[in-house]
Amino acid sequence: MDAKNPSKKKTRTSGSPQLNETTKSALHTLFVTELKDIYWAEKHLVKALPKMKKAATSTELQNAIETHLEETQVQVTRLEEVFGLLGEKAQAKKCEAMEGLIEEGEGIVEETEDGSATRDVGIILASQKIEHYEIATYGGLTQLAKTLGLYDAAEILGETLAEEKRADELLTEIAETNVNYEASEESEKH
Ligand code: FE
Ligand code: FE
Ligand code: ZN
Ligand code: FE
Repeated sequence: MDAKNPSKKKTRTSGSPQLNETTKSALHTLFVTELKDIYWAEKHLVKALPKMKKAATSTELQNAIETHLEETQVQVTRLEEVFGLLGEKAQAKKCEAMEGLIEEGEGIVEETEDGSATRDVGIILASQKIEHYEIATYGGLTQLAKTLGLYDAAEILGETLAEEKRADELLTEIAETNVNYEASEESEKH
C-alpha cells in the first residue's frame, strides 16, 4: 500500500540487526517516543488504580476500577508487544499529562468525605479525564501506525483503544444510574 515509504520494509522485519537508525523516519521516531509516553502512563496507572479503588465508596465503582486495573495490566503487555514488533526495547518516558491527571484524582479524594457518593462522583470525573487522554493517545497512535504501514501494531493499539472507550462508557453509566443522584442528596458534613 505504501510502496514509497522506505521505513515500511524495515519495520516489518523488526529486530533485524541490519536496520539502523538512519533508515528510520522522523515520524517513526515520534511514534516510538509517544509509545514510551503512554507506556509510562499505563504503568503509572497500574500503581494508582488500586488506591482509587480503595478510596471509592460504592461496590459498583470499586468493581469497575478493579476490572479496568486488570485491563490496564494487559494494556502494558500489549505495548511491550508493539515495542517488540518494532524491534525496540520497551522503555518508559515520563508522561507529564498522566502524572497531572492522577494528581488531580488524588486531590479530589482528599477533598471529599470518606464513604460519600460525592467522593465517587469525583473519582468518576477524574477517571473519565484519564480515559479521554488515553482515548486521544491510542486513537492517534493507531492512525499513525497505519500511516507508517505498521498494521500489526495498529491492530494491537486498536484493541486497547476499544477497551478505553468501553471503560469510559461504563463510568458514564455508573454516574448516571446511581452515583450522581445519590450525591445530589448528600449534605456537606464539615
Ligand atoms: Fe489504559
Ligand atoms: Fe502522554
Ligand atoms: Zn506526556
Ligand atoms: Fe484506561
